[in-house]
Amino acid sequence: MKYSFKIFSIFGIPVELHISFLVLIVLIYIIALLNVVSYVTLLTAVLITLIFVSVVLHELAHCYVAKRYGIGIERIVLLPIGGISEMEEIPKDPKKELRIALAGPVSNLLIGGICYLILILSLAYISKTIQAAIYYFVFVNILLGFFNLLPAFPMDGGRILRAFLAERMNFIDATKLAANIGKQLAIIMALVGIFFNFLLILVAVYVYLGAQAEYQTVLLSTLLENEKVKDVMTTTVHTVKPSNTVKETLKIMFKEKHMGYPVTDDGHLIGIVTFHDLSKIPEAEKDTLINDIMTKDLVVSDPEESLMETLEKLNRNRIGRVPIVWENRLVGIVSKTDITTVLDMKQNLLEKKKK
Ligand SMILES: [Zn+2]
Repeated sequence: MKYSFKIFSIFGIPVELHISFLVLIVLIYIIALLNVVSYVTLLTAVLITLIFVSVVLHELAHCYVAKRYGIGIERIVLLPIGGISEMEEIPKDPKKELRIALAGPVSNLLIGGICYLILILSLAYISKTIQAAIYYFVFVNILLGFFNLLPAFPMDGGRILRAFLAERMNFIDATKLAANIGKQLAIIMALVGIFFNFLLILVAVYVYLGAQAEYQTVLLSTLLENEKVKDVMTTTVHTVKPSNTVKETLKIMFKEKHMGYPVTDDGHLIGIVTFHDLSKIPEAEKDTLINDIMTKDLVVSDPEESLMETLEKLNRNRIGRVPIVWENRLVGIVSKTDITTVLDMKQNLLEKKKK
């Protein structure tokens, strides 16, 4: 994540603060020290800091367990809305996912429990204000623990539910069911929110969208998991030459009805040109050579690349097709439509298999 600063590393996991978080926390301390708002005291500022420490501990717990399973951890970033753990994809193994997901909420419940015990034991020695602060801290941790246990993506509870279901059915079905349960929970949350607390409606929207996104990602990555570019690429590629004019190329496009063409010179890929590019050329300049208008900054794939990776490439660069190059020669082409067609077919097979 951009604009974040590393503060320390623990178990080899870098913990970073995002600039927005830094600004927020500095602001809180300034308000507390200058006594601008009567109820924001230094104790409040410390309390808020400690709550964020709990959030970091929650993320650290996830990362620590994940690391023990050999999953690479990029870092933990702390934002004003909470913490984010950036790690490699968790393997589709319910037992591992269950433990990784559980670690976070359990750590909050543990912190809450331990602090409550400390509070009870030290009641006679601390002031009423400190007692109230510790009470509040315990309350927030218990709340964080239980809130994250709600059985809905993107909360940890959603993953726990999926892991539980995945022991009994395939991973896609388990995700689908868990996502549906999460969506229904979101609808109930929104309804409750209308009567009691509007903030709950926002959370409901977040949960609903999170459930949908999780299902889509899992479906995509599972269906495309073992597919390689070479298995789906079109090998008879229609190309144009750099010496072709815009007019000639448009003629070819109308005839063959393809929207994009690689430009090759003696089998070597040197550019790509799309109908969209050509449509922008004014009528009077239709004799311009393709060489002068083609895109030379190319995104390419190789036949051994996974289809998932290619799809991400297409989305990231917002392009419709990618030429496939092997040993410097153009050997095929894959379009986004090709990948969605493969996806539809595989999904269809999956449905049929169930019946
Ligand atoms: Zn968590």
